[in-house]
Amino acid sequence: MTRRVGVRWAAVGACAAMVLALLSGFAMPAHAAANTVITLTFDDGNADQLTAAATLKNLGLHGTYFVPSGWVDQPSYFTSANLQQLFADGNEIAGHTVTHPDLVTLTSDEVTRQVCNGRVALANMGFKVTSFAYPFASLDPAVQTIVKNCGFNSARGLGTFTARTIPGSRLPKPFRPPTPMTPRPGGSGQHMDAVQP
Ligand SMILES: [Zn+2]
Repeated sequence: MTRRVGVRWAAVGACAAMVLALLSGFAMPAHAAANTVITLTFDDGNADQLTAAATLKNLGLHGTYFVPSGWVDQPSYFTSANLQQLFADGNEIAGHTVTHPDLVTLTSDEVTRQVCNGRVALANMGFKVTSFAYPFASLDPAVQTIVKNCGFNSARGLGTFTARTIPGSRLPKPFRPPTPMTPRPGGSGQHMDAVQP
């Protein structure tokens, strides 16, 4: 059986630290390493994630970047050129709505607009967009159905070592980010996509 461990961080410092920790700090049992897939995912398209992207590239790793389409080319977020370079480097560009609302609080029409239009906008930039992440890891069955109907073939909420620690592994329980999470620029509070202590 393949176990999938999602790693989602908003802070780039934590991203880089996570990558290095995965490579050097946690020796995995041989049988687990053969059956384990670790995905490195980054949410929201913050420009400072380019530092993590450079680290991954130097290590020959790829990540998935969940990007709200309406934030592209806004100050402190990825530019269109950044996304093109990330994609050219082998990374996945994935859906994260248009403006990152809490989908369960919206009407179905507005959920559809946020999810489908976000996907279309990224597709129109030339990306094959098949994965989706729920903003704030907030979802219900109606929202899940809309995401599926918008053409995504995978969607995820919150994936953390705390939630999905591999039995028998030597990963710490619980894993804590080495630096405090920073509020999203313009946001009203902490960004709930990140692991909360
Ligand atoms: Zn997010």
